[in-house]
Amino acid sequence: MPELPDIAAYISALEPRIVGQPLQRVRLQSAFLLRTAQPPVTNAEGRVVRELRNIGKRIAIGVENDLWLALHLMIAGRLHWRPPEAKLAGRNNLAAFDFPNGSLVLTEAGTKRRASLHILSGEEGLHSVDPGGIDVFTSDLDSFRATLTLENRTLKRALTDPRLVSGIGNTYSDEILHAAQLSPITLTHKLQPDEWERLFTAARDTLQFWVDRLRAEAEAAFPEKVTAFRKDMAVHGRYGEPCPRCGEKIQRIRYADNETNYCARCQTGGNVLADRSLSRLLRSDWPRTLEELEALKRR
Ligand SMILES: [Zn+2]
Repeated sequence: MPELPDIAAYISALEPRIVGQPLQRVRLQSAFLLRTAQPPVTNAEGRVVRELRNIGKRIAIGVENDLWLALHLMIAGRLHWRPPEAKLAGRNNLAAFDFPNGSLVLTEAGTKRRASLHILSGEEGLHSVDPGGIDVFTSDLDSFRATLTLENRTLKRALTDPRLVSGIGNTYSDEILHAAQLSPITLTHKLQPDEWERLFTAARDTLQFWVDRLRAEAEAAFPEKVTAFRKDMAVHGRYGEPCPRCGEKIQRIRYADNETNYCARCQTGGNVLADRSLSRLLRSDWPRTLEELEALKRR
């Protein structure tokens, strides 16, 4: 699932292409994509794009009259920049947003239709789809700790809960926990003061590193290869490969449809935790489906 660094890269690539341009037409190929009835999508047509923002893992395109088109890509949704009036051939092409200089095309691989589009009015509308998680770049250590200890959760779950922290999912939580040298199954209520500091610093540094890297790439070319697995990642997607810090083999915990990767020497005091019992622990701390996790909202 595209997370904060990927969303930042898309926004960096889109800003020079569509801000100041009129959104001429929205073509929807999938009846399931649009999740709002009012205001109608035609209200956004013919209006000039004013601003782009990320709302959690969503990309929000703001047009004149304070209307917003908010896209959630979920796992397999991707954006592409194609020539004007690009054809939407094939069932993976869900929608096109037409501009005079090109078409922004939304695709979703696979058969599950999880990606969504909301048409929203004003700040209030945007707020209605905001899960409420804090932004690690604008929050401080105290509010970070206060938010993550609202419930006693595993660190893995707390970091990926959109009500608690904005924009982090399975990929970057693995990278953050490795950078902080903390176990994914440590409970938030057990964390010591120095560990909170390490976690907060690691969250900021890891996200900043990847935001900078992916933005720089997006300035050179539209991000066509958005993936959860990147070479140069420390642990995520690297099961069985050597840890870049200590050289030990990267371990994994499988639960639900997910896999968490960690280094035993760096993160769990050298203990290779039994996959089955860990899976049980993580699964019991998890909503049944990814959709449920993504739909969580702060009240
Ligand atoms: Zn290691």
